[in-house]
Amino acid sequence: MYNAKSYAAASATSGLASQTIARRDPTENDVQIEILFCGVCHSDLHQVRNEWSDVMPTIYPCVPGHEIVGRVTSVGSGVTKFKAGDLAAVGCMVDSDRTCPNCQAGEEQFCPNFALTYNFPDKFKTSPVTYGGYSESIVVDENFVLRVPENLDLAGTAPLLCAGITTYSPMRHWGVTKGKKVGVVGLGGLGHMGVKFAHALGAEVVVFTTSPGKKEDALRLGADEVVISKNSDEMQKHVGSFDFILDAVSANHDINAYLQLLRRDGNLTLVGAPDKPLEVAAFNLIMGRRSLSGSPIGGIKETQEMLDFCSEHNITADVEVIPIQKINEAYERLLKSDVKYRFSIDMASLKDE
Ligand code: NAP
Ligand code: ZN
Repeated sequence: MYNAKSYAAASATSGLASQTIARRDPTENDVQIEILFCGVCHSDLHQVRNEWSDVMPTIYPCVPGHEIVGRVTSVGSGVTKFKAGDLAAVGCMVDSDRTCPNCQAGEEQFCPNFALTYNFPDKFKTSPVTYGGYSESIVVDENFVLRVPENLDLAGTAPLLCAGITTYSPMRHWGVTKGKKVGVVGLGGLGHMGVKFAHALGAEVVVFTTSPGKKEDALRLGADEVVISKNSDEMQKHVGSFDFILDAVSANHDINAYLQLLRRDGNLTLVGAPDKPLEVAAFNLIMGRRSLSGSPIGGIKETQEMLDFCSEHNITADVEVIPIQKINEAYERLLKSDVKYRFSIDMASLKDE
């Protein structure tokens, strides 16, 4: 075991502060990574504040962070895909059983025995739970480590590991392509990646935002049209016209307003995870045989595919790089939708702790 500088929350209300944690020494199949950048996902905030207590209660101290990019510092004797000095990335998962039908299908995100990057029982018992990427280093089984394309900016690549794959995966699943009309609801970290992917996949893209100030950005990011969702006349113009809508809103909101915008057999996929149940009017699904579904992150194979797609299309997240010391302020700004469009922590700032 060795010590790693990190930022942790001691309780749901404490905020985050510097804390040294224990990491395991790399075992046979492990890759040890010096973390260079870690994106700040709204899920980090939900978990730090124990807002998902019904589904996955937070165990403290909690070191969040699952949008990790860094450089390999050492590898175990059985590692074949990485060597010291390579760029490497880690997303939301660090393990799975590798034998269940979901793992066999390359969809480890549905494995009943997967392990998440933080706030999950640590099978190595180095710590009570796994600790995430707000840290100077991490040790992860090579099968859950991704290759990072050399041509991408690293600060903007980190968010691809969650915001990227979470929006790419359902778009591929639901057949977003040229000729399809796609809506993206909520222009935050996930939403802005959704816009970039839908545009790169050739779809007609409409952004729904509560923030009029984001209109110009949405168009620059690849939207063909921007609707201010509070304006019911603007919403009405789109009734019955969408093939697919991706809802990436972090707070409670009326999804019926969006279900009505789907055409026959259209689908609305929730990736946003508000803490309270959402109300659905049955007739919004019955009329038009519309469907409502959800989608969690994506499998390891698809995450690599997404990174390679980003390399080819030169896609990264639009980031505001912050030192770790600004993390509590960043969470407050995240709640006000005041980030364009993802905070990415420069982990070199941990050296000052
Ligand atoms: P974020 O950057 O905070 O973006 C959320 C966006 O939602 C905001 O920018 C805002 O967009 C909109 N919004 C916020 N409050 C709203 C309200 N009261 N009414 C309507 N719209 C509102 O968050 P994120 O990191 O993208 O994450 C979004 C959600 O996805 C979170 O709940 C997160 O936990 C979840 N998530 C899920 C997965 C998964 O696997 N399914 C993975 C990662 C994250 P506008 O300003 O444009 O309105
Ligand atoms: Zn996330």
